[in-house]
Amino acid sequence: MNLKQAQKFLKDNHVSFVLAQFVDIHGVAKTKSVPVSHFEDLLTTGAGFAGYAVWGMGMGPHDADYMAIGDLGTLTLMPWQPGYARIVCDGFVKGKPYPFDTRFVLKQQTAKAKGKGWTVNVGIEPEFMLLKRRGDGTLGPADESDALDKPCYDYKGLSRARVFLERLVGALQGSGLDVYQIDHEDANGQFEVNYSYSDALCAADRFVLFRMAAGEIAKEMGLICSFMPKPFRHRTGSGMHMHLSISGTDEPNLFHDDSDKYGLGLSQMAYHFLGGLLIHARGLCALLAPSVNSYKRLVVGEALSGATWAPAYITFGDNNRTSMIRVPYGRLECRLPDTSCNPYLATAAVMAAGMDGIARKLDPGKPQNENLYELSTAERQARNIGLLPQNLGEALDALEADSLFSTALGAPLIAEFLHVKRQEWIDYSRHVSDWEVNRYLEFY
Ligand code: GLU
Ligand code: MG
Repeated sequence: MNLKQAQKFLKDNHVSFVLAQFVDIHGVAKTKSVPVSHFEDLLTTGAGFAGYAVWGMGMGPHDADYMAIGDLGTLTLMPWQPGYARIVCDGFVKGKPYPFDTRFVLKQQTAKAKGKGWTVNVGIEPEFMLLKRRGDGTLGPADESDALDKPCYDYKGLSRARVFLERLVGALQGSGLDVYQIDHEDANGQFEVNYSYSDALCAADRFVLFRMAAGEIAKEMGLICSFMPKPFRHRTGSGMHMHLSISGTDEPNLFHDDSDKYGLGLSQMAYHFLGGLLIHARGLCALLAPSVNSYKRLVVGEALSGATWAPAYITFGDNNRTSMIRVPYGRLECRLPDTSCNPYLATAAVMAAGMDGIARKLDPGKPQNENLYELSTAERQARNIGLLPQNLGEALDALEADSLFSTALGAPLIAEFLHVKRQEWIDYSRHVSDWEVNRYLEFY
């Protein structure tokens, strides 16, 4: 789309405002609204922001403006907000791409892959909870009858959320996403909407749009669409599974090879990429599961449905949903990320780890094809299976200890991430919870 076509598109669709959008270090959408008469400015000078007002921009209140310049290829309507369009912006400071802009960081990884003739394809699967605050202040599924122990794929559960889901799907379609499946997931009030995969940058842009649309549509209906990874202890959490493959200039899928000795349809290149994901798993964890709450999900926990479906161990396996990496055949599914991640940072980190695996020809070992939730600690240790970090503090230490991420994604950005997230961890650790009061108040 060139400028003339964009202007015609905005006019034909009765757009009055264009939202200049980027994300903070948490991956949360930040915007300025620009009347359509000034659309062209967005593509040249951009919209100015005081970077210090946004999380993780590495700035003080005295620093130069963060200029958000629109990437024309991302211009889409926002059908849930008639009269508005959205353009995703790249961050510039003093005329230079800004290293704290996580979209820029992902672009560097895609450029690195392109230099080798590769396009990394990413399919993101968003899960979320559709909730309602009840009169007594408690939170529960939007549909009060959604109370089965095993609610996954339930007809009634899906059907009773259809007003919201139809509005969401319509909005996504109107924004250019090709939605192909919608289901009720394994927790009460939990759903997943699947749309086609794309190149890594586009996938991250779309996930941000997804959260924007779902959150606002729910709000308008008096509901809460939550991307918190684990709102309820005894229910499965919300993952942001990432399907991964690489295409070459003439090869649709360089990860695919039918002659794979393990029968997973993976090429040598895919095994090396996988080796990179496993060797860097503990450092990756902080970027893919970046909230305090993320670590309530990544455990072998009790779930009323029978399984949490989330990984706790650093493993890969055939169609194994208890593993960190599932191999659907000829591609990889990374099950580590959750919906609280910054999709640009998470994808950039996965690409850096995978490409490091390819460069170093890393061997991921053997697939683990059984129910890993049933593995005893002794068995796990005998097989040398590593454990994912068990809390955010541990994950941040692992990130700091793995120099790959500072080298590939930028030392100042990783230092900023560690700083912001360590504050979050300390804040959580120092708060006195109901659990503590209940357990200790009169215990001694
Ligand atoms: N909700 C699960 C998770 O936390 C995943 C369920 C599934 O396999 O779709 O990752
Ligand atoms: Mg799912």
